[in-house]
Amino acid sequence: MEKGLKIGLEIHQQLKTHKLFCKCQSLIRKDDPDFKVKRELRPIAGESGEVDVAALYEKTKGLFYVYEGYNNTTCLVEMDEEPPSKLNPEALDITLLISKMLHCSHPNIIQVMRKTVVDGSNTSGFQRTVLVGQDGYIDTSLGKVKIRSVILEEDSARRVDENPESVTFRLDRLGIPLVEITTEPDIKTEEQAKEAAEKIGDILRSTGKVMRGLGTIRQDLNISVKGHDRVELKGVQDLRSIPKILEIEAQRQLSNLKEESHVRNVKPDLSSKYLRPMPGAARMYPETDLPLVEIDMKLVEQLEIPELLEAKEKRFEKMGLSNSLSEQMAYGGDADLFEHLVKSYKKVKPTIIADIIASAENYIQKKTNVCYDISDQEYENVFELLNKDKIAKEAILDIFAELSKGEKIETVAKKFEKLTKSQVLTEIKKIKSEHKGVPEGQLIGIAMGKLRGKAEPQYILSLIKKK
Ligand SMILES: [Zn+2]
Repeated sequence: MEKGLKIGLEIHQQLKTHKLFCKCQSLIRKDDPDFKVKRELRPIAGESGEVDVAALYEKTKGLFYVYEGYNNTTCLVEMDEEPPSKLNPEALDITLLISKMLHCSHPNIIQVMRKTVVDGSNTSGFQRTVLVGQDGYIDTSLGKVKIRSVILEEDSARRVDENPESVTFRLDRLGIPLVEITTEPDIKTEEQAKEAAEKIGDILRSTGKVMRGLGTIRQDLNISVKGHDRVELKGVQDLRSIPKILEIEAQRQLSNLKEESHVRNVKPDLSSKYLRPMPGAARMYPETDLPLVEIDMKLVEQLEIPELLEAKEKRFEKMGLSNSLSEQMAYGGDADLFEHLVKSYKKVKPTIIADIIASAENYIQKKTNVCYDISDQEYENVFELLNKDKIAKEAILDIFAELSKGEKIETVAKKFEKLTKSQVLTEIKKIKSEHKGVPEGQLIGIAMGKLRGKAEPQYILSLIKKK
């Protein structure tokens, strides 16, 4: 620890609910936008009367901005043509739960603030943000890491294009509820930083109320070595790369002790490049379009703490799942579906259910070249059939493949209907008489091919071997 490392985390996580200040869906879209508008932005003075240093820096660029939106998932609020609607109560509840799990205290009354944003990523020129929790902690193997704040804010617009005169933003991301968790710079080693980020990630995901997938969680790292000002590293995608990124930055700081505090962007090779000066403090003022919100402390007390994913994984192992399958079920986002199916279809082993959930969509893609989302109802239909012994478990993947082609469950069920024991016996007898003198190994192949998915392989095998 001779480097005198001080590391803090800032984690941003999108919440799984509609937008924060309007009813638009929180949906990142890949299709072409319905409209575009062109705007110019000028930096404005914060409450202190000073123009932010970051603001001045951005101004020197002299850009204009293009905003792209959709008729049905963006509205006048994202365009800053209409005042915000009241704070999404579900987003607040999720944030309170997260904050409670981080052992934070909560103010009785919260106030939405405006934070100056000058890079064009907010049409209003500010980001709405509200402090929900503070002074919490998480435990790590090297001791407590204090949580400075839990903030609920609106996500910024998405930068999609840039040229010398203009920057283009997509409004689909603007206004998606985002929780920002900031730790104190209590973290002393690169590995502890990773551990702390994982712990916080586990808490976030265990709520079941956060978005999953690329871009839905973003980590920033604050780091300083002894004798160097704080540097913020943005754009950390993969938690596993945190130790390496910090190691590289610590070395860089040690050889540049004289430089000032600033923000850097992490590059794919995990080194980083200068982005902009550190934003100053003159950035917040109250959002006068919105009323104060009272926090119902009784309600906060009653919020139930969900099971952490780590604990879930252990519990799944006890149900007979292998280590990797338990991990996949606990962390992969299908835990609720898995548990629901296990509870509903008691004659089916949990391992079989987990195995199918883990592999069915890949199987379909391999077999039909189509990316297919199996619905919860389709899972239920198929496991219902298995539970009643109407199909063999060996047929399940092919059944899903048929369903993905738009076949009805009744039709597919008939096609893959499991044969009764006597029907199987008849079939085997027939195969044997048609292939007299054929070696047993070959006979097994023929029988398995013909009865595939319609009878238990073990049963077929036993009948072939029987003289
Ligand atoms: Zn909207």
